[in-house]
Amino acid sequence: MSGQDVEQLAKRVAAGERRALSRAITLVESGRADHRADAVALLDALKPAGKQALRIGLSGTPGVGKSTFIEAFGMFLIERGLRVAVLAVDPSSARSGGSILGDKTRMEELSRHPDAFIRPSPAQTQLGGVARRTREAVSLCEAAGFDVVLIETVGVGQSETMVAEMSDLFLLLLAPAGGDELQGVKRGIMEMADMILVNKADGDLKATATRTCSDYAGALRLLRKRPQDPEGYPCAMTVSAVTRDGLAKAWDAMERLAEWRRTSGYWDRARAEQARHWFMEDLRAGLLARLDRDPDIRERIEKLGTEVAQGEKSPTVAADEVLSALGK
Ligand code: GDP
Repeated sequence: MSGQDVEQLAKRVAAGERRALSRAITLVESGRADHRADAVALLDALKPAGKQALRIGLSGTPGVGKSTFIEAFGMFLIERGLRVAVLAVDPSSARSGGSILGDKTRMEELSRHPDAFIRPSPAQTQLGGVARRTREAVSLCEAAGFDVVLIETVGVGQSETMVAEMSDLFLLLLAPAGGDELQGVKRGIMEMADMILVNKADGDLKATATRTCSDYAGALRLLRKRPQDPEGYPCAMTVSAVTRDGLAKAWDAMERLAEWRRTSGYWDRARAEQARHWFMEDLRAGLLARLDRDPDIRERIEKLGTEVAQGEKSPTVAADEVLSALGK
């Protein structure tokens, strides 16, 4: 693309054109070097973003009702005059070509609405790039004037931490569960959640959902109080993506928390910390990629790796050798 084309695309994104936004995201997702240069120019052109969107991370295992919830919650927000973007981070597709998140066929009403933008997870190649691309897609949606950006992910591995690192609020969606074990939700994930939503609180499942919800509310109360929370957070509540019960209450709770964080200064501090975090991540990834591109260094690293594995050299000494070769 010429500089003019990039400028043109930036203008159209800033005007909120969904087709342009789609194209811009395709550009940041591309692995081609020339595309990368255009993507960087585009992001730079859009940098003085106007207003901030509310970035909501949403995690939950397959089948818990994420698509159904996003369809319902997205429409709920649109009915309140908000524009909603949905992005997906799917670590499983990297290896197994697994489930597609952000599947538009499961969000039919929302995907057709002019005030919504849905971007399914791309077929991944390298996991390392996922974070950067998603983060860039988030800022593009923000630049396009969306009020709420939902970032959906499955409860697998590192993806939750990654999504939490780019969200203002992080929600955990759970299903009603019998028994007293807390669905094997890892403590670390509980600690990341600002709100737990127990979905499917309808029909026969309602009583179980209510019980599950109070179990989790109890578990949350046992966690250490965090400086980013007002009284009563993190909290657990029941919702039904099907009947749409509880959505208004959940949204109230999200708005209250967001408002509290803005007023307390936590919001700005968190965004600043996130920006610093991603800067360092990009730098780290970039340096490693650069090492990998140099055949001499790559060969040397491989050789040293073998020596370390065979106990001929300590990891510290080997790493130091590579680093000294790079100069001061
Ligand atoms: P995902 O894999 O997390 O995206 O889950 P889906 O949204 O595809 O939902 C999985 C199944 O749960 C589907 O059969 C949905 O119809 C059902 N489901 C989702 N939300 C609710 C709900 O609020 N109540 C009930 N009863 N079923 C739901």
